[in-house]
Amino acid sequence: MSEKKEYCGLFGIFGDPEAVHKTYFGLHSLQHRGQESAGIASSDGTHINCYTGMGRVSRVFRAGGGILERLKSPVAIGHVRYSTSGSSNPANAQPFLSEYSRGQVAVAHNGNLINAALLRDEYEACGHIFKSTNDTEIIVHLLAKPTHVAKPDPLGHVLNHLQGAYSLLFLFSDRIEAARDPFGIRPLCIGKTANGCYCVASETCAFDMIQAEYIRDVEPGEIVTLNKDGLHNRFFAAPGEVVPAHCAFEHVYFAKQNSLAFGENVHEVRKKLGARLAEEHPAEADVVTPVPDSGTSAAIGYAGASGIGFDMGFVRSHYVGRTFISPTQDMRDLGVKLKLAVVREVVQGKRVVVVDDSIVRGTTTKGKIRSLRRAGAKEVHMRISCPPITNPCFYGVDFPTKEELLASSRSLDQIREYLEADSVGYVSLEGLLSCLSLPADHYCTACWSGKYRIPVATVVNKFSMERHQMQMFDNAEPYDV
Ligand code: AMP
Repeated sequence: MSEKKEYCGLFGIFGDPEAVHKTYFGLHSLQHRGQESAGIASSDGTHINCYTGMGRVSRVFRAGGGILERLKSPVAIGHVRYSTSGSSNPANAQPFLSEYSRGQVAVAHNGNLINAALLRDEYEACGHIFKSTNDTEIIVHLLAKPTHVAKPDPLGHVLNHLQGAYSLLFLFSDRIEAARDPFGIRPLCIGKTANGCYCVASETCAFDMIQAEYIRDVEPGEIVTLNKDGLHNRFFAAPGEVVPAHCAFEHVYFAKQNSLAFGENVHEVRKKLGARLAEEHPAEADVVTPVPDSGTSAAIGYAGASGIGFDMGFVRSHYVGRTFISPTQDMRDLGVKLKLAVVREVVQGKRVVVVDDSIVRGTTTKGKIRSLRRAGAKEVHMRISCPPITNPCFYGVDFPTKEELLASSRSLDQIREYLEADSVGYVSLEGLLSCLSLPADHYCTACWSGKYRIPVATVVNKFSMERHQMQMFDNAEPYDV
């Protein structure tokens, strides 16, 4: 099912009089992780209220709409969502609020459960009724199962049923529980506000936004509880039982430059990747230009290491979202045109090195190269700060099928030909891993290496649970670009 592939942003805060507004600002700073829907659930200690909607945070919680005021409570979690679905289904917006024998619970999820379809089939066979098509809902059904409710640690027990990538926030009326899968595939961090309240977020940029201090990451296999007594933790999977598999693509593309991802600053890592790229793939050129914003940090690194001058050959319109995040190819193409304009004076008559973080299908990269040539670039040398993407991701990154991935079936020269570039160079996998501070085997590199750390038994694709798709588009609003 399309909704299974989710690259989302999470934020939660306990005990702050401004919890809901801080969640709103936290979600804003995580907007790059998802623009399809947004939501906030809050608790006054006994009751949970939840509001979700389609589109960006500012659209969902329109200024003056009074929604934040109505949600006002000292405990809140929030979610921004990016599904790969062509359909924008309001039923899948999160946090996902439910009521079961133990009361209310709201769940927010970042990741991709590879066994969700299997579990759902099992539960449906026993008569369970699902109201969404996202893989998060199965977690609530697992929580509600009477034999699970009776366990000493029902949540820990339930998490052991899940396979795949998950960073999760649970809002119960009296507490927030934050959990991360045993491989630590997706990030999740803990912070503390100036007034001493604990918060959790996908990335530390959300803490900067609300002037909270980063404390540490939620560990793989750990559950962290935020309640009136402060912060407590427990492990549902023995710490160190498995070697972590942090998604290296967070560093390459997804996380924001001012964030710490898996303990290190994203911008600094990207600059190192650019420098390594310059070492591995030098070019005779007059100017280095990034594809903004995804290639900017790496281009700075490339220019610094190569000694070639850095300049902005493209300017980006900030009134357009991340085009790749748009659900259809047509929207993505239109978005690219809207988004990037060439500065003729920078590239005309020049040999240009263009640096970007990655190539997926290659369609937008080809468009960018063409527009440089139209503006008079003499040569275009494409440099990519990650290795060729040859395999789909089953752990939450929106990559298309293997067949659609440009590099899955082409040699470097065929890629160059397709892109109409004078030369193409990708940083090697070894080179990429040498720019990260943890040991090489602590990262998931499946999209480049094909080595999947969690075996995917059945092929999980966009449409795995499409039969569950329900017609609930009545409230869907037009998509923002
Ligand atoms: P394309 O040439 O069509 O493959 O698009 C490449 C662009 O897509 C690059 O600028 C990347 O920054 C961006 N990109 C790569 N992976 C993703 C992803 N999973 N989600 C959104 N954008 C991506």
